[in-house]
Amino acid sequence: MRVPSTEKRKTVYTEAMEVFHAAADLIGLDRRVRLELEEPDYEHIFYVTATLNDRLAPLPKSEHARYEKLASSQIRNPAGLTPLYDGKFILRHDALRGADLHVENGVIRLGEKGLFRIEEGQAKRFKAYRVQHNQARGPYKGGIRYHKDVSLDLFKVLASEMTWKTAIANVPFGGGKGGIKIDPRQYSSDELEAITLRYMYKMKQLIGPDVDIPAPDVGTNGEVMAWMFRQFSDGERERHTMRGIVTGKDTRIGGSEGRVKATGQGLAYCVEEWFKDKQLPIKGSRMIVQGFGNVGQAASEILVAMGARIVAVQDADGTIYNPDGIDVAALTEYVYANKDNLKKSVGGFPGAQEISKSDFWAVDCEVVLPCALGNAIDADVASKIKAKLVAEGANHPTSPEGDEILASRGIDLIPDIIANAGGVTVSYYEWIQNKRMEHWTEAEVNARLEFAIKSNYRIIQDIALNRPRKTPEFDSRGFVVGKQLPARTAAMVLALKRIEAHYLIEGFSQ
Ligand code: NAD
Repeated sequence: MRVPSTEKRKTVYTEAMEVFHAAADLIGLDRRVRLELEEPDYEHIFYVTATLNDRLAPLPKSEHARYEKLASSQIRNPAGLTPLYDGKFILRHDALRGADLHVENGVIRLGEKGLFRIEEGQAKRFKAYRVQHNQARGPYKGGIRYHKDVSLDLFKVLASEMTWKTAIANVPFGGGKGGIKIDPRQYSSDELEAITLRYMYKMKQLIGPDVDIPAPDVGTNGEVMAWMFRQFSDGERERHTMRGIVTGKDTRIGGSEGRVKATGQGLAYCVEEWFKDKQLPIKGSRMIVQGFGNVGQAASEILVAMGARIVAVQDADGTIYNPDGIDVAALTEYVYANKDNLKKSVGGFPGAQEISKSDFWAVDCEVVLPCALGNAIDADVASKIKAKLVAEGANHPTSPEGDEILASRGIDLIPDIIANAGGVTVSYYEWIQNKRMEHWTEAEVNARLEFAIKSNYRIIQDIALNRPRKTPEFDSRGFVVGKQLPARTAAMVLALKRIEAHYLIEGFSQ
């Protein structure tokens, strides 16, 4: 029987928990364990402030006539001005060094770039979060997201998904997630550093290498992790013992080989297994990818190396299509090594044609890889998809209605909690290497990852097909429920059985 929820309103969290309830009902999850898992252990909301740099903001056209005679200024120190994607520039005081300046009423002309108003840098406040969902199996573990569309409810969803994912990957962690409501592209690197330091300062008493371990997520990366490590360990004599406070670090400061690509690599291993099951060749298969960030880029590169063709890519600012296959190496160069591509977008890539946002989902292909944000595949999108498989690189990319439509159309699904578990699995390897002061080779990391992802993928398949087996690699006999299940429910059954065992065998701390 379902435990009555304290949430009456339907929220993204209660919606995301529907699969939890379905799996809990199926296995008769212990009632107290269910109550423990139904809501997070802790939900932290707090605020961080930072003082921003001055900015140059494009002057509205209506005011241009007034400054027709304003001479152009010369700023010769390239470090003095940093362009932002929204047309503004960060203006640092060292811009003055060697400059010829002409300013009138706070307006300045920069040659062909046009007229700008100097905006005074002001202090700003940002809303920040850390949700710690469950730690029955080990320290809370989960990424830090910097994005403008975040909320407590969203972080509850993402933190709970980490609890399920760490159990499925069978790593000794629980689930957490957090971040800041911010569009990082509107800020300079030094501003983001200041904001991150303040964020970590406020979180310091909540986390620790054996308590709660953040990692990169949307809008953050290894550089942000380095700032977080520095802030956490600042002033400590034994800071080397604290390297495990964050994962996803640069390999030169305790990061693991293979971590940057791990989520994409794990996704590719799952897709490879699916092709093997279907006895279809991955070579020559067509795939479309939404999101060309950490996950989407790495998955594309690895799947192309396995012989697949990426025929369309969509990100926040563009959608591109090439039926012959996009040159992923050239696209990576175009997005990440091109200083003029301020939006870091695939839009405008010369090796493909631009198509509309909505045409993307209807592109002919065998595999769809959503690797961007949540709820991308709603009912409408699910009815357009032509693929045979949706493999979820992103967290929660398919809405419950989307799920139903995919199932009714016979489209297979590899759910996020196994498909993108590669990242947290290698995060665990990084954490172990930090504890042991070791550094493993990429080959060793990938061999362990391949075994972990493929064996847990197999257990989920066995639960879905009601096929109890013991092989030299895995044992699915304790997890099957006596009937066939959708893949998403099967994955949740595996997670819940592994978590429940901790409560039932260890008991509850009082
Ligand atoms: P990222 O910030 O590196 O890249 C995100 C990509 O999504 C970018 O290309 C961006 O342009 C695109 N995007 C954003 N909004 C979009 C929109 N409205 N439409 C189309 N594209 C859009 O982030 P990431 O680390 O690659 O994470 C992507 C997803 O994978 C997220 O859901 C994240 O939670 C999940 N995930 C990441 C990891 C990891 O290790 N990085 C691990 C597990 C799950």
